[in-house]
Amino acid sequence: MSFSDLGLVPGLLRAVAEKGYATPTTIQRQAIPAVLAGRDVLAGAQTGTGKTAAFVLPVLQRLGTPQGSAPRALVLTPTRELAAQVAASATDYGRHTALRTRVIFGGVSERPQIEGLRAGCDLLVATPGRLLDLAQQRLLDLCQVRCCVLDEADRMLDMGFIRDIRRILGMLPPERQNLMFSATYSQEIRELAARLLRKPLAIEVAARNATADRIEQQVYHVPKDHKRHLLVHLIGSGNWQQVLVFTRTKHGANRLTEQLQGSGIRAAAIHGNKSQGARVRALGDFKENRITALVATEVAARGLDIRELPHVVNYELPHVPEDYVHRIGRTARAGSSGSAVSLVSADETPLLRDIERLLQRSLPVAPLPTYAVSAPARAAVPQSVPAAGARRGDLHRPHRSPAPPARHRRPHPSLRSSSAPSIPRARRPV
Ligand code: AMP
Repeated sequence: MSFSDLGLVPGLLRAVAEKGYATPTTIQRQAIPAVLAGRDVLAGAQTGTGKTAAFVLPVLQRLGTPQGSAPRALVLTPTRELAAQVAASATDYGRHTALRTRVIFGGVSERPQIEGLRAGCDLLVATPGRLLDLAQQRLLDLCQVRCCVLDEADRMLDMGFIRDIRRILGMLPPERQNLMFSATYSQEIRELAARLLRKPLAIEVAARNATADRIEQQVYHVPKDHKRHLLVHLIGSGNWQQVLVFTRTKHGANRLTEQLQGSGIRAAAIHGNKSQGARVRALGDFKENRITALVATEVAARGLDIRELPHVVNYELPHVPEDYVHRIGRTARAGSSGSAVSLVSADETPLLRDIERLLQRSLPVAPLPTYAVSAPARAAVPQSVPAAGARRGDLHRPHRSPAPPARHRRPHPSLRSSSAPSIPRARRPV
């Protein structure tokens, strides 16, 4: 099947061909004709399945030509990055039409966004907060919206947007087409879908809550304070050029970024405390291979479209098991393959169990390789660092900065026992 079999008009087909897409993906084959026919759609699609084009193309076609100045189609996304990406895709796919796509999200000045809306808008892509802001100031008219898309709806609920979404939906005309996309299904998602959608076509692209088969997944059981050393080793020994690393907190992302930089790895952090400019710069540097490791929190990484990202590392496991699916979905997008490595410390074992329960299978555990354990290069007084499992007296003598690596030879003793670690705290690497 080709795109021309889906009922798309020549202008859109041309844009798709210019993007280099030869055949529609599964979700595109199913969703495009249904959306063109005006149906509501509930799509369970993993990231990387081509879901953006699956709704953007038919929505653009239904919009036809520019009309008036208020948006007639609205796409809600959980994050700024995803909003920017969806809007960029819509602009790309709509390049041979005169339709006007605008994007609004927080964290940047609202002035250019307001000016854009005043100049006229057919398709609006927005995050909930800024949209409500502008609507309440009466700078945005939602009365013409005839099609509403909730993209990554599960993530929107995870991020606590449910009340905002309800308020926004309440501002839209009741007669409209609704499309909902979600990588995972919770009870909450089902309830939202039941309220929002009318006789939707349900599309399930991959097995529910399953991760892409093409992703090679591996778990390393490693002490918490050895994770960074193992990560440095994996990046170096595997000659990784591009790796997205997930931490749980913004602070953790900053700290790990500094530690990686201290080990000579080009790294940048991306999280909610970074300005929009800093985020865009970090993402640009990553995409252009100017940095090797992008260290991200869950929220910031959501929606990043980095094509053919080869490696994802869960430096810390997520508390919500569905987030594991989202995270590793960053790799193996649209036909490419990838690897997802999880560094699991003893206290994270219950989180690993939750993930395996969700996936309905256990993840392969890889043996720990031999890796160097080095003191942080930034430390004012370099510490001597024992090899994990070192006996008393095996300690290296203190060196001038930076301390040379000690070799990690066998699993940390704390792995063999869940009781207190047998290496005295003061001697453990910081
Ligand atoms: P998405 O799931 O919408 O984030 O898309 C994932 C990636 O697949 C994006 O980089 C798209 O540009 C790309 N893509 C979307 N549709 C196709 C297609 N039919 N063939 C090849 N790549 C595609």
